[in-house]
Amino acid sequence: MITVEHLTKCYGDFMAVNDLSFEIDEGHVYGFLGPNGAGKSTTMNIMTGCLSATQGHVRIDGYDIFEEPEKAKKLIGYLPELPPLYLNETPVEYLKFVGAAKGLKGQELHRQIDEVIEQTKIGHVKNRLIANLSKGYKQRVGIAQALLGNPKVIILDEPTVGLDPIQIIEIRDLIRQLGQTHTVILSSHILSEVQAICEKVLIIAKGKLVAFDAPENLEKLLLASNGITFTAEASVEEVDEIMKGIEPEVQWECGEAEDGMVLVRVKTESAEVRELCRQIFFAFAGKQRAILEMTSKKANLEDVFIELTEGDASAVQEESEEESLPEGKNTDESEVSEA
Ligand code: ADP
Ligand code: MG
Repeated sequence: MITVEHLTKCYGDFMAVNDLSFEIDEGHVYGFLGPNGAGKSTTMNIMTGCLSATQGHVRIDGYDIFEEPEKAKKLIGYLPELPPLYLNETPVEYLKFVGAAKGLKGQELHRQIDEVIEQTKIGHVKNRLIANLSKGYKQRVGIAQALLGNPKVIILDEPTVGLDPIQIIEIRDLIRQLGQTHTVILSSHILSEVQAICEKVLIIAKGKLVAFDAPENLEKLLLASNGITFTAEASVEEVDEIMKGIEPEVQWECGEAEDGMVLVRVKTESAEVRELCRQIFFAFAGKQRAILEMTSKKANLEDVFIELTEGDASAVQEESEEESLPEGKNTDESEVSEA
């Protein structure tokens, strides 16, 4: 559906997008994930024909966005980061204007306006001034204009930024619905968001594609960092003896033993961290050795993100200045036992 080849964009000597190549298939919801300044908006602006590229190609259903922009653009509906809404108009007036600009006329224009109003559920506010609508409804109007002309691809740049939690849930539901009939690409710097909506995730950092996979596969990438840490009332020799009996085999290392206690770190590539905790617990209990504290860590997409974008200090710093940070570092740190 969309092919991006060696796309590069320089602003002066600054390279905002650096040799990006990827393919988007029809009928899925894709997420562009990356810290602020990663190059998501720049890429989307180029893909939608709003911005020129320094190098590279973008083809939409075979049409080159630079060589056949009219045909290519007809296939795309775009909600930019700052949607150009006319605040002194009502949604109906605004949609008429955008529809006409997209070449719709007469009955077809009215039919499509009714359809997108229905799809985005803005019927009850369609005759109010856009200026007086909540941010969530403004965003719906922005999505409604993207849907006019019935494009195959919908591109949404940070569609949930600035919305309250209820509005976020509503817009996510709307995006999921759109995903049943369209190819949808959205950008976000919030991991849980792309995890919740997208079937495929492209992680972009410093203008480069650093990963492209299903959210569950990205998690698997980091399963290797799953681990358990525990303190046992045992000697190093006893720990080694007991841990050798754990199936399937795991790797472990013992920290400094003091006061008759030893700190043990266990590494596992298994997703069954909890089952492993249980096994360790009963193996030690069976030998009359107490486990005094145990914590487990299960890698999630957030860890993948940090791992893959590591060293991207400037972007991370920019992100920390943003008000809406990803929801905490939600590694699943849970205390599973205390004796
Ligand atoms: P994102 O959408 O991922 O936050 P952007 O594509 O907006 O990232 O920006 C990528 C980088 O390009 C940023 O460092 C940004 O400051 C820079 N940039 C974006 N637009 C311009 C511009 N018009 N002129 C110069 N630099 C720009
Ligand atoms: Mg952006």
